[in-house]
Amino acid sequence: MAAISRERAEMIAKGHACENCGEYSYKKLIVRAPIAAHREEFKEAWHAVKICGICGLEQEMGIDDDGEIVYVS
Ligand SMILES: [Zn+2]
Repeated sequence: MAAISRERAEMIAKGHACENCGEYSYKKLIVRAPIAAHREEFKEAWHAVKICGICGLEQEMGIDDDGEIVYVS
């Protein structure tokens, strides 16, 4: 089974509201391949780092092969 595309992972990351203020405005959004440990532990296909454009909270997020968010921190 092929993993979802990076573009799709970006869409999913953008569609997840900030955990702190509930907004969808991000001043920075980076989607990259996960490190091997995350791939192993969370079945992470893509790793997203987002910085909220409203409150400035930095969040990291794992997205799996099905496009499900496996964790947010
Ligand atoms: Zn925020």
